[in-house]
Amino acid sequence: MRPVRKGVSFDVLVIGSGASGLAAAVSAERAGARVGLATKTTLQACNSAKAQGGIQAAFGEDDSPEIHAEDVMRSSHDTANPRLVEVLTSEAPSAIHWLEELGVEFTRSNGGYRLARCGGASRKRLLQVGDRTGHAITKALRDAYEAGSGTELPHHALGGLGPARNGWGASFRLKDGSTTTLDASAVVLAAGGRCYAEAGSRGELSTNHPNATGEVTRIVLEAGADARDLDALQYHPNGGAWPATMQGYSIPETTRAYGAVLLNADGEEFTDSLGPRDAVSQAIFDEVDKGKGVLTPDGRPAVWLDTTRISPEDAEISLPYMLRRYRGAGIDPLAEPIFTYPVLHYQNGGLVIDEHAETTLEGAFACGEIAGGTHGRNRMMGNSLLECTVFGRRAGRAAFEKAGT
Ligand SMILES: Cc1cc2nc3c(=O)[nH]c(=O)nc-3n(C[C@H](O)[C@H](O)[C@H](O)COP(=O)(O)OP(=O)(O)OC[C@H]3O[C@@H](n4cnc5c(N)ncnc54)[C@H](O)[C@@H]3O)c2cc1C
Repeated sequence: MRPVRKGVSFDVLVIGSGASGLAAAVSAERAGARVGLATKTTLQACNSAKAQGGIQAAFGEDDSPEIHAEDVMRSSHDTANPRLVEVLTSEAPSAIHWLEELGVEFTRSNGGYRLARCGGASRKRLLQVGDRTGHAITKALRDAYEAGSGTELPHHALGGLGPARNGWGASFRLKDGSTTTLDASAVVLAAGGRCYAEAGSRGELSTNHPNATGEVTRIVLEAGADARDLDALQYHPNGGAWPATMQGYSIPETTRAYGAVLLNADGEEFTDSLGPRDAVSQAIFDEVDKGKGVLTPDGRPAVWLDTTRISPEDAEISLPYMLRRYRGAGIDPLAEPIFTYPVLHYQNGGLVIDEHAETTLEGAFACGEIAGGTHGRNRMMGNSLLECTVFGRRAGRAAFEKAGT
C-alpha cells in the first residue's frame, strides 16, 4: 500500500456500493490504493443485489465477443459507442473468471456453464447463479473488499463534488443529519440510475431500489461533466402485475428464455417474446391500447405471460426464487399463466466516459448505470452486471493510476 499524495484522505474515493462501485473499489485496493467506499445507506443497499436473470459473456461454441458486440449494437439501434461495446464484450470472459476467483459459482450443466438466450441475443450467452445472480456477485465483491484494507463509509450520501488542491473534494450528509468533507486524488462515481425517483414522479411502478434517485448524476453535471441519452429510460417488459405483493417485481427475462411466451386476451402470441426490450415493451403497450389486454383483479392493464410452458426442471434450476415468490403469494406459475405489464427499470444513458471509464472531468471516473454509451439508448438484459464488472474493474485501476501521477 503506498500513500500516493500528501494531504488527501484517500487515493481513490468510490461513491456507491452496487456491483460497479464494489468492482472499482476491489480493483483499486488490490492495485495498492488507499480506498474509501462511501455509500448512501448500507453497503448492501443497491439495485445490483436485486438482479436475478444473469450476466452475458460469449462462452458458447457458436459465439464470440464480436457476435456479442453485434447484438449490442443492433439492440441499441446503433446508438451505442462501438469502442465501449468492444471493451465490454471482449473482456466479458475474463470478467467472469475474475468473479469466479472471488467466489461466484455460476450454474453449470453438462460440464459447462448453463447458458440461456436473452432478449435481442442471437446466441445462448446468459450465465446465471440460479435466479439470484446479482446477490451472488455483490456478496462476493463485498466479501473481497471487506477482506482488504479499504475503508467502508456507510450512510455517507454525496451532496456535493468539486475540484480540490490535490484532486476532488466531496461533501456528504451523514445518518445523524450532520455533514462531512473528504478529499481524494481520484473519484469513481458508481451511484446508479434514477428510475425509483422517476417512477415516483410519474406515478408508476418501478423495479428499482429506493436509493436509485439520481442526485449524483445531477451533482456531477453541475461540476461540469458531459452526459448522453439521459432521456432514454428503459421499461422492463415483464413487471409483475398481480398479485399486489408482486407489483413492481421484475419477472426474470429467463422465464422467456426457458419457454414462457406473451399472450393477449384471446390467447394469441402477439410479439416475439425474445425480442429487444424496447420492442417487447412497446408491443405490450400497443396490445393493451388496441383493447386486447386483460385486467388484473384490481383493474390494472396487463397481458398474460404463459409460464406454464417452462419445464419444471428448467424452473427448478434457473427460477427457484421467482417460483418461491409467486407460490408464496398463492399462484403457481407452472400451473397457470401470470399477469404482466412493463415497469420502469433502467437508465440507459448517463455520464460520458472513455474506454478507461474516465468522464470528461479529469480524475473523475464513472461506471455502471450512472455511465452512458455502452448500451446506447436500449440496453440488452444481462449486459448491466457485465458493464459493472468490466468498467468497474477498469475504473478502479485507472483511478489508482491517476492518483499516482
Ligand atoms: C430488479 C432488477 C433486476 C435486474 N436484473 C438484471 C439482470 O439479470 N442482469 C443485468 O445485467 N442487470 C440487471 N438489472 C440491472 C442491474 O442490476 C443494475 O443496472 C446494475 O446492477 C446497477 O449497478 P450500479 O452499481 O451501477 O448501481 P446500483 O447497484 O444501483 O448501486 C448504486 C449505489 O449507489 C448508492 N448511492 C445512490 N445515491 C448515492 C449518494 N447520493 N451518495 C452515496 N451513494 C449513493 C446506492 O445506495 C447504491 O449503493 C436489474 C435491475 C433490477 C432493479
